[in-house]
Amino acid sequence: MIQLQLKVDPIPIVEPLVVRLRTSLPGSSTTTSDHDARMVSHDTETADFDVNGFSLRVHTRHYKSLDGDVVLVVPGRGTLHRLIRASSNHNTLLITEQCDQKCIMCSQPPKKYHTDMFDQFLQAVALAPTSATIGLSGGEPFLHKARLLEFLRKSQSARPDIRFHILTNGQHFEPSDEASFKSLNMASILWGVPIYAADRSIHDRIVAKQGAFEILERNLALLAKAGAVLELRTVVLNANITELEELANHLTRNLRFAHVWAIMQLENIGYARMNWDAEFCDTSKEFDGIATAVDLALARGLRTKLYNFPLCTVPRAYREYCTLSISDWKQKFLSTCDDCRLRSSCTGFFEWYPENRGFSEIRAQ
Ligand code: SF4
Repeated sequence: MIQLQLKVDPIPIVEPLVVRLRTSLPGSSTTTSDHDARMVSHDTETADFDVNGFSLRVHTRHYKSLDGDVVLVVPGRGTLHRLIRASSNHNTLLITEQCDQKCIMCSQPPKKYHTDMFDQFLQAVALAPTSATIGLSGGEPFLHKARLLEFLRKSQSARPDIRFHILTNGQHFEPSDEASFKSLNMASILWGVPIYAADRSIHDRIVAKQGAFEILERNLALLAKAGAVLELRTVVLNANITELEELANHLTRNLRFAHVWAIMQLENIGYARMNWDAEFCDTSKEFDGIATAVDLALARGLRTKLYNFPLCTVPRAYREYCTLSISDWKQKFLSTCDDCRLRSSCTGFFEWYPENRGFSEIRAQ
C-alpha cells in the first residue's frame, strides 16, 4: 500500500506548513518556487529537505517517489501528509469528517469535530501539477459551504487548469446559492452525488436520514440549473440490489440532466465493515439486477459506469463499463491475479477487501 503519511523529525514551526518537495539535487534545472523544499541530501532511510533554511528530515526509503508531491506538516506532529502526489491521478483533500447522514456503508464514519484546513488546501492547489484533478470529500464538505465556495473561487482564480471532483450528499444547497455557483467555472467541476433508490423510504433508510431523498431531488435540480456536471453514484447493497432497475428508470425519466451514473461495489471499511455480512452483494454470482439497470440506462442515453468491480466478477458484455476506480494508494491484487492477462486493465480490490467473505468467483482470465 502506498503510504500517504511519512514520519518526519520535528521542525520549529507554529503554523501548518505546505510545501512542494523537490528531490532533484541543487544545480539541476527544475524550476522552483518559494514554496518548494529542495532535497539537500539523502541516505537509504532518510531524505533531508531545505525549508527556508530549516532542515526537514523525512523518513523514507523511496525519496524519488516524493518528487513534486505537495505535503503538509502540522506543528508538533512527527508526520508529513502527502496532500497531492505528483505521480498520482487519485488525490483527494478531506474537507471535513463531519456529516449529517450516517450511511450504512459509509467508508469514513462521521466525527464530531472539524479542523478548518482551507487555507492549507488553497496553498496545495496552487502547487499542484498542471491540469491535475483533485477530489474534495468528507464527511460532507458542504457543511462548511461558505468556506468551501470561497476556496473553490480562489482556487479557480489561481489555477484555472485544475479540475475538481466534489463528493457531496446534496443536502445543503439553497436557491440563494445560485449566485455563488455562477461565480464558479462549473465546467471544471464534477459533482458526485449519491442516490441509492427511487423509493424514498429505501434511500432514507440507507443514508439514515428521514426526508433526505426529498431534499436530494430538490437540490439535484438546483445543481442542474446551475450547470453542474453531475455524476450520480449508487453503491450496490443487499438493501437496494432489487431496486436498481427502478432506479435506472427514475434517473432516466426524472433526472435526465445527469451526465453519468456510477454503479459502485462496496468498500469494506468504516460502517461497511460492520455491515458487510448483511449488505455485501456478491455480484460475481448474481449480476442480473445490475445488467438490467445498465441496459435500461444506456438504452435511454445515460452514460453508465461500473466502479470497484474486478473484471472477472463481471460478465464479458459489461466489462467495457468498468473503470479503474480504486485509488492507487488503497488498491491491491490477489495471488490469483498474478497470471491474469486483464490485470493492467482491472481495478483490482481495496486493500481491506476480505478474501474469505468476498466474491465467490475470482478467476484469472
Ligand atoms: S483475476 Fe484479478 S486481475 Fe484478473 S480480472 Fe480477476 S480481479 Fe482482475
